[in-house]
Amino acid sequence: MSAPASLNPAQMQAVHHLDGPCLVLAGAGSGKTRVIVHKIARLLQRGPGAELAPSQIAAITFTNKAAAEMRERAKALVGAKAAKGLVISTFHALGVRLLRADGAALGLKPTFSILDSDDVHGILRDAGGTTDAATARRWQWAISLWKNQGLDAAQAEAQAANPDEIQAARVMARYQERLSAYQAVDFDDLIGLPVALLTREAEVRGKWQAALGHVLVDEYQDTNAQQYALLRLLTGERAMFTAVGDDDQSIYGWRGATIDNLKRLPEDYPKLKVIALEQNYRSTGNILRAANCVIAANPKIFEKKLWSDHGDGDPVRVIECDSEEHQAERAVARIQALRAQGGAVLGAGAPEGQAIEWKDFAILYRANHQARVFEQALRKAQIPYKVSGGQSYFDRAEIKDLCAWLRLLVNQDDDPAFLRAVTTPKRGIGHQTLAALGQFAGQWKVSLYEALFADSLGTALTAKALGSLHEFGRFVNDLEQRARHTRGAEEARPLLLGWLKDIDYEQHLHDGEDSEKLATARWTNVLDFVDWIAKRCGGEMVQDVGGTVETEKKSVLEVAQTIAVILSLAERGDEQNVLTLSTLHAAKGLEWPHVMLVGVNEGLLPFKMDDESLTPESLVQRLEEERRLMYVGITRARSTLAVSWLKRRKRGRETVAGAPSRFIAEMKLDENRVQEDPRERLKALRAQFAARAAAAPTSP
Ligand code: ATP
Ligand code: MG
Repeated sequence: MSAPASLNPAQMQAVHHLDGPCLVLAGAGSGKTRVIVHKIARLLQRGPGAELAPSQIAAITFTNKAAAEMRERAKALVGAKAAKGLVISTFHALGVRLLRADGAALGLKPTFSILDSDDVHGILRDAGGTTDAATARRWQWAISLWKNQGLDAAQAEAQAANPDEIQAARVMARYQERLSAYQAVDFDDLIGLPVALLTREAEVRGKWQAALGHVLVDEYQDTNAQQYALLRLLTGERAMFTAVGDDDQSIYGWRGATIDNLKRLPEDYPKLKVIALEQNYRSTGNILRAANCVIAANPKIFEKKLWSDHGDGDPVRVIECDSEEHQAERAVARIQALRAQGGAVLGAGAPEGQAIEWKDFAILYRANHQARVFEQALRKAQIPYKVSGGQSYFDRAEIKDLCAWLRLLVNQDDDPAFLRAVTTPKRGIGHQTLAALGQFAGQWKVSLYEALFADSLGTALTAKALGSLHEFGRFVNDLEQRARHTRGAEEARPLLLGWLKDIDYEQHLHDGEDSEKLATARWTNVLDFVDWIAKRCGGEMVQDVGGTVETEKKSVLEVAQTIAVILSLAERGDEQNVLTLSTLHAAKGLEWPHVMLVGVNEGLLPFKMDDESLTPESLVQRLEEERRLMYVGITRARSTLAVSWLKRRKRGRETVAGAPSRFIAEMKLDENRVQEDPRERLKALRAQFAARAAAAPTSP
């Protein structure tokens, strides 16, 4: 492999284009993300007077995890101090920053809450007067897509095509009223509100445009209309930005991402410098050819060539499996066989002779539920793994309980947080009391928390109910005061543990869980979480380039304010030596030496092509997006790729005959096999023997 600092001429050109908008449009593994990291370094180091300060550079990634990874890569190039000051985040996290600083112009307090999908669902059921989860989910979906297109409730209603949509738009209006009463925003608002703010307030816009010298966007093909609007507003006339992307990897169309953002760029910016990258540095020839063959079946928006000089490598394997269990067994067997062979045979992935580690493997699938059988098999074989893209640590009930409490401390107007905290654990405040409180709050247009302290509330409630509410209110008040003044990890830990003891949370877990073991596991999560928050309160000694330094101290309340963002898109990006189980969507941008794509069946990937509710055009669109997903999957692999399919698969409760995905035939492996170079095989075998000989114990 080449030195870490090297760039090819086209990459170099992208890095050195500093005086106008730039688009790098190129296939998978061609070093687009690498261009972003190197360009950050270049912007920091460019000639005297022209260089930017770290805080003037914003790099936008698709997930928090990708942001953390990019910061690491930047650190290696520019040093810890500069890397720390860079703005590297998702669009959403950048939106939070903007709103906390300048949201007041929209009537938003800096302590606003960020609702998660469950909260939104609950509010919609309430606002729409339905108990039907499916209906509420449909509204949630419709509202989200509208927001992503920049429509408000009135505009949505005006363009509604049928009675269902009209109803959803009306529910949206009521939903928005509640959000503003709660001082809360949803996920889509984190983009939409900054767009509204910057459009309306020239002064705020000027301030941000002056603050940001250059904006870099990774995975540009998966931005939606509002994100594009935000990019335009942030960069203004000067248009100092670099976007990198690959239309063949656009896989979030279902969530409102639009490839129009790519097509529009040259029209909106006539000075746009477009750069193509053609060398793939990630995969072997066999893997890359399979990927190119599959994607060739899609209509081309931008013609791309992609080649690799890694040699052919191992052929792509197709594995037929009898059942899901069988598939998991075969995967485990393959992993063990590859490990036993050692890295020597495997070219691009592992340097010769170096052992293959667990973190070199990934098993990728289309849908979350497919992970379960693999988890069982991996546990049985004692192979350590992590699941990404599925239920996150922060989605767990116990963590959400605690987050609701923290949210309430930060923003007392957050009614959903209030309702969760007041009932978790149960403290003798029943539904009737809460309904009466809700009615009172509605009548006076105040939040539940504010209503609780109103003098006239006594007329609506019994003395006992009122007493319990007041006790709760005083407790929250007192906790908030203490959280405000507790600084640093050392003080934060006892405060948090004391709070959990006061509300008797451990007992609450045991009461709610039949199995002792599960309750204990939940409590362990809670302690983990406490530790995680405490660490963020700082004041601890950490190793840095300059020796050990003390981290900046923050109060528990300050940390609680930022939690929602960290949690919302958070995958806890700890670098452990474990195998990765991941959905294809969550695997975007990543790479592993050894990849297995599993469940590559008709009906799974491509997903449900017999959906009768879809029009012929949307079926074609779905197929094309599924094909891009397959392309993303194949191109995650560096050295080896195995693709497996099921001869029998489960559909709901039934077991049905399975057919291999059409994408397997589209890889054209038979044609490729002819090209397999026998010399490669021989070279590999020799290396294998050499490695074995080296590893064999020598006699004294
Ligand atoms: P994706 O489309 O999957 O996001 P990408 O285009 O962003 O891929 P990178 O992740 O930047 O590609 O690069 C893929 C791999 O190739 C990485 O391991 C990277 O370090 C390596 N690489 C990229 N450019 C070069 C280069 N000029 N020399 C050596 N290695 C390179
Ligand atoms: Mg990338």
